Amino acid sequence: MDLIESLKPIGRRLNRFKYLFLSLGIFGLIALATFFLIPDSVKTMGASVNDSEEIDLDAFPIVQPTLKYGFALDTFQVREGKIKNGEFLGNILHRYHIDYPSIEKLAKNAKPVFNINRFRVDKPYMILSKDSTQRADYFIYEPNVYHYIVFDLNTLETKKVERPIEYKTQIKGGQIATTLWEAITENGMSFDVAAKMEDALQWSISFQHLQVGDEFKLIFDEEYIDGEAVGVGKVKMAYYKTNDQEYYSVYYDHKNKNIVGYYDLEGRPKKGGFLKAPVKFSRISSYYNLNRFHPILKRRRPHYGTDYAAPYGTPIMAVGNGVIIKAGYTKGNGNYVKIKHDDTYQTQYLHMQKFASTTKVGAQVKQGQTIGYVGSTGLATGPHVCFRFWKNGRQVNHLRMNFPPPAPLPEEHLDGFFKVRDQYLEQLKKAEIKPIEKELELANNTSLKDLEIPEVDTP
Ligand SMILES: [Zn+2]
Repeated sequence: MDLIESLKPIGRRLNRFKYLFLSLGIFGLIALATFFLIPDSVKTMGASVNDSEEIDLDAFPIVQPTLKYGFALDTFQVREGKIKNGEFLGNILHRYHIDYPSIEKLAKNAKPVFNINRFRVDKPYMILSKDSTQRADYFIYEPNVYHYIVFDLNTLETKKVERPIEYKTQIKGGQIATTLWEAITENGMSFDVAAKMEDALQWSISFQHLQVGDEFKLIFDEEYIDGEAVGVGKVKMAYYKTNDQEYYSVYYDHKNKNIVGYYDLEGRPKKGGFLKAPVKFSRISSYYNLNRFHPILKRRRPHYGTDYAAPYGTPIMAVGNGVIIKAGYTKGNGNYVKIKHDDTYQTQYLHMQKFASTTKVGAQVKQGQTIGYVGSTGLATGPHVCFRFWKNGRQVNHLRMNFPPPAPLPEEHLDGFFKVRDQYLEQLKKAEIKPIEKELELANNTSLKDLEIPEVDTP
């Protein structure tokens, strides 16, 4: 009896545990049931806050009576979004009830048309579902304005659709008051035009030396898709006037004869010469100067090159066709490349951050080909290329050089070329140049001294 009495409190305590276990069990069951019964879309809500936006769209599908991507949108439930960081075809389509085996097959079928690893953050996509079902029927991805990719989620086939481009010829001109960029935009052209203009004139004009009062005229194509300007095509004719010197570049394309590129008015290929600079959009931070006072060494020491300052990693171009005869490292030069163009001329590029993958001794290079990237290796304190021009084994100032003109197009092609040229010359007369009104100042030169990069080269 005493024993039984003494055991009672233990029993009561056990009872209490029983209730605790029972209630924990019930709670667990409810939690499990909730997990399995609630649809996938709600479960992932907590995982990605960004998705909430799209769930709103689910609830209120956009119905537009318009045609897009070749679909009549008002016959579909339309959901639009942008690729988010870390999002893949799999997790997007899974949200729209496409199972993983189908997604896998879709990705495999898509390969010849589109690599599904190429989705880019912030690019738009659209999901189309027929009204009756929640399962999506089409996924459309638009990597750029020029084309889009349609994934058919029923047949699991993919197609790429190119949008038709319309070209409108523009004839424009300008005069430089401060910078080329300003002259371009003030005359109603986009930034893209400046780059295309440099492409056309890179053999004739040193874009590091544009001067106030310089004039230019351009004929170029603007690309339109659905009535909207989307880009700039090739400059067909470029004209540049500086210090009473006039330069023309005529684009000529005789497809079947491998004759394509820019020519001067006499039909001489521009590519026959050298590029004026090895880096685009750069600035000269130090000139060729046999009597240079060195800012670090505090003594006169000749500078046998021209320094082009540009951000780290900017591509460095071969200024002419040739063969790489050196690609190495020295304490002074850092990573450098030397190219032999012919028996007379060689060029050298110092202080590279790194070489291009194709840069090797003995490799052939084409004019304009990237051979390395701007850096400050060797004795240099800022990112720049020290560009050295060698003539018959001696370093010369390439900015002062006059090269013999290359031979013009073969006789049988000249008539065809002249026809195109004369047509452009006639059109170019329509280019208007507004005289500059504002206070004249050469932005390039005023900033040169402030931005001088102290730098040491070995000759
Ligand atoms: Zn230098």
